[in-house]
Amino acid sequence: MNNIAEQLSAAYHNIAENCRQLQRDPQSVQLIAVSKTKPVSAITAAYQAGQRQFGENYPQELLSKAEQLTALPELEWHFIGPLQSNKTRLVAEHASWVHSIDRLKIAERLSAQRPASQKPLQVLLQINISDEDSKAGISAAQLPELATAVAKLPQLQLRGLMAIPAPGDSERAFAAMQQLSKKLRQQHPGATELSMGMSDDWPLALQYGATMIRLGTAIFGARTYERNE
Ligand SMILES: *Cc1c(COP(=O)(O)O)cnc(C)c1O
Repeated sequence: MNNIAEQLSAAYHNIAENCRQLQRDPQSVQLIAVSKTKPVSAITAAYQAGQRQFGENYPQELLSKAEQLTALPELEWHFIGPLQSNKTRLVAEHASWVHSIDRLKIAERLSAQRPASQKPLQVLLQINISDEDSKAGISAAQLPELATAVAKLPQLQLRGLMAIPAPGDSERAFAAMQQLSKKLRQQHPGATELSMGMSDDWPLALQYGATMIRLGTAIFGARTYERNE
């Protein structure tokens, strides 16, 4: 086995073990392999080891990788980064999921630009749960209104929430997200997903009901550069 296959296998093993202790079904948790800045060879290695869900942060990088990897038929892209209006088309055409919706205008563009031949884009609303000036996302107070508006868009399906807590704030933030998610599901029963937890805090996220964890470093190793971060 190559390194990536080993790290993936270890991650799935750890997830199953954590789920067992939490009395959660391991099938209720999806691992999104965050491949930003990593070469297509790394994605191919993970795909060959059985991974199908991949996360990318930058529209241009998503496009380039999607075009190079059309031969991997079951691969699904999750767009998890900040999204500007002038880049929505790339994401609407290539992603299956978008985790980072934080404005109605972006959602409307994605819906309008989603090709009719594809199934609706699965979207999560990003909450700025640690209330950081520097972070994307809406406040909890803005959630009901944005959720109602997004749920009406024909080529989008509202599937849940995403958050990136501030360092040191993970546990409070995850608990708050779990409550928000419960409330959201009363109005939008299909919004069952909760995307939270990264390489260094995912076990805690699982305790608070995460259904999608986004692991980069734990699968592909440290990134040698970051863009826009
Ligand atoms: C980079 C990134 C991740 C993965 O982070 P790791 O700490 O490497 O696991 C997850 N989510 C988002 C939104 C990211 O930008």
